Amino acid sequence: MAVSVEALPPLNEKQKKLAKELEGYVKHLCHVIGERNLTQAPEALEKAADYIEKQFASFGYQPQRQTFVARGKNCHNLIASGPAPEQKTSSPPIFVIGAHYDSVVGTVGANDNASGTAALLALAKRLAKFSSEHQLRFVAFVNEEPPHFQTPEMGSWVYAKACKQKKENIVAMFSLETMGYYSQKEGSQHYPHPLFKLFYPDRGNFIGFVGNFWSRRLVKSSLRLFQKYAKFPAQGAALPSFIPGIGWSDHWAFWKCGYNAVMITDTAPFRYLYYHTAEDSPDKLDYASLARVVDGLEQVIQALAKKKK
Ligand SMILES: [Zn+2]
Repeated sequence: MAVSVEALPPLNEKQKKLAKELEGYVKHLCHVIGERNLTQAPEALEKAADYIEKQFASFGYQPQRQTFVARGKNCHNLIASGPAPEQKTSSPPIFVIGAHYDSVVGTVGANDNASGTAALLALAKRLAKFSSEHQLRFVAFVNEEPPHFQTPEMGSWVYAKACKQKKENIVAMFSLETMGYYSQKEGSQHYPHPLFKLFYPDRGNFIGFVGNFWSRRLVKSSLRLFQKYAKFPAQGAALPSFIPGIGWSDHWAFWKCGYNAVMITDTAPFRYLYYHTAEDSPDKLDYASLARVVDGLEQVIQALAKKKK
């Protein structure tokens, strides 16, 4: 059964607090730091890295930096690792929860991707003490946007390749990408192909779980748990990665390295009029819906991580 946003109960106290917190992260990234990328705003990109690192540390992590050089400048992925699994095995199963923190040239990137970065921080904060037989890793990626996208300069690719080289047992990667825009208007949702309209809603009021063919079980299980816990409209699709939009974020790098990964997204390129424009500002976002989504994801990650393998 589809849940429509109008029928949702009001936010509970926990979600209200979360909505405020998320808005705070988005506004800091967009208003205090501003446009952040290597091309136009490298100092702000550096400031964003410092800010995220500080937040991770304040939640009790010992954040690590993965630094590499792109176009003559140092770039950083920031990593906050949760408690190691109780049962020590040589290669403990790992969940990576990731979001890119750079913005496209010419915008502060509120939805793309201060929203995903905010979700990453909020989840890292809430799950800092969580321990199970999986290790949780929260990673903020640099250089997702063009001209770095799907090149060796892309932060998530640098990270995923290093994990593969170390033979790390990443069983799931969740890519938090543009998660803050929802619309109740009919016809507000578009798709990469008209055929989608037969199966998926016409209104852009849902959160999407998008995977490739190999990640279809992960899409299914995370979507099912989300629907159980979140009471927020959600749709899932496991599709061939050649369809436009399917591979448009950091999960792509994990697919390339043979890992299962799913993108959690409001499908901005097919919904959000301000996608990759100067208009992508914090006032466009729906923090209450974003809070419902993040609250649901927290429970999804916990449930998946607790499940025996
Ligand atoms: Zn993005």
